[in-house]
Amino acid sequence: MSEEQAMRTTPTAVHVQGVSKRYGDRQAVDDVSLDIRGGEFFGLLGPNGAGKSTLVEIMEGLRHADTGSVALFGESPWPRNTALLPRIGIQTQSSAFFVRQTAHEHLRTVAALYGASRAAADATLGTVGLTAQRDVQVENLSGGQRQRLAIASALVHGPELIFLDEPTAALDPQARRDLWDVLRGLKAEGRTIVYTTHHLDEAEELCDRIAILVNGRIAVTDSPHNLVDASRAPSRLLLPFGRLDEEKAAALAGVDRVTVQGGSLVLETRTTGRVLSALDQLVGLDGVQTRTPSLEDVYLDLTARLAQDPPAPRRTAETTTEHQP
Ligand code: ADP
Ligand code: MG
Repeated sequence: MSEEQAMRTTPTAVHVQGVSKRYGDRQAVDDVSLDIRGGEFFGLLGPNGAGKSTLVEIMEGLRHADTGSVALFGESPWPRNTALLPRIGIQTQSSAFFVRQTAHEHLRTVAALYGASRAAADATLGTVGLTAQRDVQVENLSGGQRQRLAIASALVHGPELIFLDEPTAALDPQARRDLWDVLRGLKAEGRTIVYTTHHLDEAEELCDRIAILVNGRIAVTDSPHNLVDASRAPSRLLLPFGRLDEEKAAALAGVDRVTVQGGSLVLETRTTGRVLSALDQLVGLDGVQTRTPSLEDVYLDLTARLAQDPPAPRRTAETTTEHQP
């Protein structure tokens, strides 16, 4: 099924229409529209201060947009919608905990609030790898463990739609991989995940689609695959230095640029197959490495371009000045 067909046939989990939010003279979110379908794993990326948390909290019904509307499963989360609460799970960037409770007590309290069972609390503690910390006071957990408890608090009642704001930020590499498995499992169960991250490798691994937010506006929305494809960023072929001289490499059909980096001759190309077969005939492929462009390349290129050349502010009656003859 194509992306477009899927969009038409699967119900919408999150519908965001023309949402804006301003703090003083800072336009944190600027006219964002977005649809996330049921079962989708959606990533929101962007530099610090881009408006990710503000946008996610508006979707969650924790903040109110100045203008625009949000619907989760067709219902507005604002003002506080108790019918929606059991269906959504929320981990905010600065999570609050019940003080003087152990990890297990905290999670049981959260579970009880949602009418989830004690067994669910035990199981979820296991899911996030905190079984060994069940009797540790929350204030004595490490940063990463506390973050996992916050994630567990978002999952304990088995919500259909899960919002996670930088869930992997404080995690060590192993804990991060473990959480990927948890998130993949949730997706496999058909749940919808909306999350923010600064880890582009992770977004590329996990997300069906991502949006890149810059200065409160969505710069692009697409699958990581399509974004990398459409960027036409070159691949880089690394040859052991001395294998082929620079001029010969530069003269090969399909080679855009040749540089020397870290003991390798680096050939940039957008026709990898063609250049590889030419190299194979000339010098053989032993020790030749291929680096394909990644989402990180696309992201860095896009955010750098937009920072240099921000889109012109939309002209309004207030900002338009008439030239007087
Ligand atoms: P991100 O999550 O992408 O880092 P945020 O949504 O937290 O971005 O913030 C977007 C912008 O809005 C930033 O410039 C931030 O300083 C500002 N901001 C966020 N929350 C508030 C608030 N409660 N009051 C004033 N300014 C805020
Ligand atoms: Mg944030």
